[in-house]
Amino acid sequence: MFFNIFNAAVDNINNELLQQKNITLSVLRLDKIHPVVSGNKLFKLQFFLTDALESAHQTILTFGGAFSNHLVATAFATRELGLKSIGIVRGEAANELSHTLQQCMAYGMQLHFISREAYREKDSEASLSGYEKKFGSHIMIPEGGYHPSGAKGAALIASLFERNWYTHIATATGTATTAAGLLSSCGKEKIMLIPVLKNMHDVEDRLRFLCGDHYHKEQITILDQYHFGGYAKYNASLLQFMNSIWQQYHIPTDFVYTGKMLYAIFDQIMQDCFEPGSRILCLHTGGLQGNNSLPAGSLLF
Ligand SMILES: *Cc1c(COP(=O)(O)O)cnc(C)c1O
Repeated sequence: MFFNIFNAAVDNINNELLQQKNITLSVLRLDKIHPVVSGNKLFKLQFFLTDALESAHQTILTFGGAFSNHLVATAFATRELGLKSIGIVRGEAANELSHTLQQCMAYGMQLHFISREAYREKDSEASLSGYEKKFGSHIMIPEGGYHPSGAKGAALIASLFERNWYTHIATATGTATTAAGLLSSCGKEKIMLIPVLKNMHDVEDRLRFLCGDHYHKEQITILDQYHFGGYAKYNASLLQFMNSIWQQYHIPTDFVYTGKMLYAIFDQIMQDCFEPGSRILCLHTGGLQGNNSLPAGSLLF
């Protein structure tokens, strides 16, 4: 890995409920890797960065919305490695740029805003050759690292915990690239996916695209009822839950991904969906910078 990932640690959560049910719950703190660009994103970037460093094109071009953890991670990683980065951003530039986009610019990313309509067509042949003309030759990273290379990078996350010790590994799911990485690198653990988008019905197709032969349907469980209304939607009970996790265990979570993932796992434990003796590892995939877009005072941390 290009980045020091040894700040990542496993925190064990202990409470009466878990003791009662004879379940152990641990959190792999990928958020500790770096204060802003933490979590799964640096892993997903690994092999794209290698390609860029080895190729003649020292430029990376990628995509994201105004609050994209992927954009800011790409901006940071490319700057660290002396590469150029271009971010194609969904929607017109607001008068005041989001905190995320300001960070991207601070890390030297060149931002290029396109309409939502144009963004929908961003992966078409015509769009791609347009970028080539406009920005010159480059390595392109699909939005969120959604590509087998991204999954191969995410597979490196498994080097941070012991194989087959846990019975379940849980992760918040956006593009499913992180889950695909787990599937291709883990042993017998059940992989639990918590989609943060509403109506995400194509998870299995995505996994097949991302990890081909490594994809076995029996190994995954999709918990699709914890999106809280859709991407980046939230309510008071989610925020309250996040605050209580902070108060009890000193674990900060984000409202887009990791808050929903942990909420789901606690809810499933309360509903007796895990057998006694289960050992659950939750990936804290980072993303804390996203909390900057909440109204001030929403969170205790
Ligand atoms: C992007 C992101 C995810 C989703 O990962 P995918 O590989 O796209 O499924 C989960 N958690 C956080 C904090 C993220 O930023």
